[in-house]
Parts: sequence; C-alpha cells; structure tokens
Amino acid sequence: MKEATKYIHAGAHPDPSTGAIMTPIYQTSTFVQEAPGKNKGFEYARSQNPTRFALEEALAIIENGKHGLAFSSGVAATDAVIKLLQPGDEVIAGSDMYGGTYRLFTKVFEKFGIKFIYVDTTNPANIKAVVTANTKLIWLETPTNPLMNITDIAAITTIAKEAKALLCVDNTFASPYLQKPLDLGADIVMHSVTKYLGGHSDVIQGALVMNDTELRDKLYFIQKSSGAVPGPMDCFLVLRGIKTLHVRMQRHCENGAAIAKWLRNHPKVSKVYWPGFEDHPNHAIAKKQMKDFGGMISFELKDDSAENAKRVLSSTKIFSLAESLGGVESLINHPASMTHASIPREERIKNGLTDLLIRLSVGIEDAEDLIADLQQAIG
Ligand SMILES: *Cc1c(COP(=O)(O)O)cnc(C)c1O
Repeated sequence: MKEATKYIHAGAHPDPSTGAIMTPIYQTSTFVQEAPGKNKGFEYARSQNPTRFALEEALAIIENGKHGLAFSSGVAATDAVIKLLQPGDEVIAGSDMYGGTYRLFTKVFEKFGIKFIYVDTTNPANIKAVVTANTKLIWLETPTNPLMNITDIAAITTIAKEAKALLCVDNTFASPYLQKPLDLGADIVMHSVTKYLGGHSDVIQGALVMNDTELRDKLYFIQKSSGAVPGPMDCFLVLRGIKTLHVRMQRHCENGAAIAKWLRNHPKVSKVYWPGFEDHPNHAIAKKQMKDFGGMISFELKDDSAENAKRVLSSTKIFSLAESLGGVESLINHPASMTHASIPREERIKNGLTDLLIRLSVGIEDAEDLIADLQQAIG
C-alpha cells in the first residue's frame, strides 16, 4: 500500500456486528465471558479494548512497524520504555529535548538508580564517547523541541547495535509522514500522539511502535501492569486524525517554509531555527532522513529585551499563546517559561535555549493570514 492509502485504511475493518465503516467506541470496562476463561479475546479493558487495538494496528502500519501500543499520554509511553531498565543501567539522551522527558528522567527515574547521560546527539561521536558496558538505551529526539536540531538516526543505529543498547526515537516533531525511524534501524518509535497524529488539539495520548515481538510483549506487559492506557473515545479521535495526517502535514510544511523564509528576511528578527534552510547546521541530514521540514519554527528577536519578546507573544491574534503543537490551528509559545520551564535555567541556556526564544507551531490556515498576524505582532 502506498503512503496516502495507508493513512486512510490502516487499522480500519468494518465492524463485524453491524458493518459500521468507522471503528465503534467500545466504551466498556469489561467483557462478558461464556464460561471461566472462555471469551472472545477480550476480558478487561485495561488489557484489551477493540477501539484501542484498531488504533494500535494503525500506528504500527503508518510507522512501517509490526506492533503498536497506545498510552494515555506521550510521557506515559516514555515511562514504559524506561521501565524496561534495571537499577545500574545507563541511558544516553539528548541535551536538547522536550522538558517533560527531561523531568521524567531526572525527577522520577534517577532515584531508582537509572543513570542518564545528556550529550549533544547531533555529533554521533559525542554518543560513542559515553557508551559503557551499562548503556542499555539511547534516547533520541529529532528534530528537537524547541531548537530544531537534527540527529542522524542511521548513524546512531550503528552505535546502538555495537553497544547492544536499544535505540528509541521520539518522532513527535516529524510525524511518520516526514520520517520513519524504524526504517533507519531504530528499535522503538515513541510519539506524543497529542500533537500531529491527533492533529486537532482535542486529545492527550502517546504511542510506541516496534518490530521485535519479544520487545512488544515486554512493553505490553508494562502497559497493562502500570495501566497508563488511553480511553476508547480518545482512540477513536486519533483513528480519525490519522486519516488526514498526510494532507495536514503537506500544508504544515508549505506554511512552515513560507513563514520561516519570511521571518528570516524580517529586519527585527535575529535568528530563525528551521531545518529547511540550507545553512542550518544539520540541513544535509534533515534532507536525507526527512521527506520535508515540517511546521515547527523557533526564532529570536534583535531587540532582545524580555519585554519585547513578551509583547510579541501577547499580541498575535491568529496564533494562540499556548503550549502544545501539531494541531490544525497555529500556536505561539515561550519555551523558557512554558514547555521547557522544568529544565533548570542554567542547563537550558548552556544548551542554547535562551529566555528570548519564541516557538511557533504553524497550522494549516492561509499562510498570508499567518504572516500578516506575525507582521502586526513583531511590528
Ligand atoms: C509533547 C511532547 C511529549 C510529551 O507528550 P504528552 O502527550 O504531552 O505526554 C514528548 N515529546 C515531545 C517532543 C513532545 O512535544
């Protein structure tokens, strides 16, 4: 099946009892059994739910994987991956990544004796330098949130295989439409489904996709034992969202390119972070492993006073000031005080995330309206 057909048909089977073309929302906690142990494959909805199963099948298909698992949030999916580990195990992760992932690693899991080492993953040699016999997992985010750094997934795959460590890629920013980490050799793909996969800012959800069946069974065991499963209504919403992922992503990319180029020519803008620019330090890798460059852009203003950044952030009319990304509507965000406030300021600034950085999630409205809105806000 080709790409567009997959998004429409993945996981979709007419309902066996009625023929309903859309997977019903099986809003039930339990399933009646004929006799003890004799059932239709469904016992209790934390372990099995038909709406969730349809979504998990769809997630696997669109990431070119064998198995999908859906979670109640992106961080719950990340949490499940770390629970594969033992005290004493080491994880190598990016120094520039989603603040909630950093918080989960440092504030929740470090105290259980798991060690996290943060490096700039855009240079594979930095990862190689910190691999030890205890390295069990390499955690990559590419493009990164919010600095749009790109890491060569295929190069890190080689290092992970040599180290006999798992490679998990947070593919939230790219979405499976732009990038397929399993095809490049990753072991697990993680998504904050909340973002592009859901696509309509109406659901919190996470996902893992993998090929290895033994790994799937371990993660399924964690999913049902820890219980961070999404409800059937949320699974239905995501099944619906996936059907338009490719057309939404095409428009996100077109609008993203138009706005990135416009911002770069604006006399009051000092720096624009977008991997589509030929002089972006990782442009060649982005071009190699991504189909297009996406709708996420960060920028800084020449007047680098906090008041000026605040003024711009509060004066857009179409871009809404809010956390999150990947929905059809455009959002503007201040990472330092919003999405990345959980990273200590010193740490943040060391990694290039200043107090002045403004992040845009470019939606699928008309690019002219979005540019006019930014023009009146930047002034
Ligand atoms: C939002 C986000 C997460 C966390 O996902 P939730 O659904 O909010 O739990 C993880 N990684 C990235 C890159 C994100 O943007």
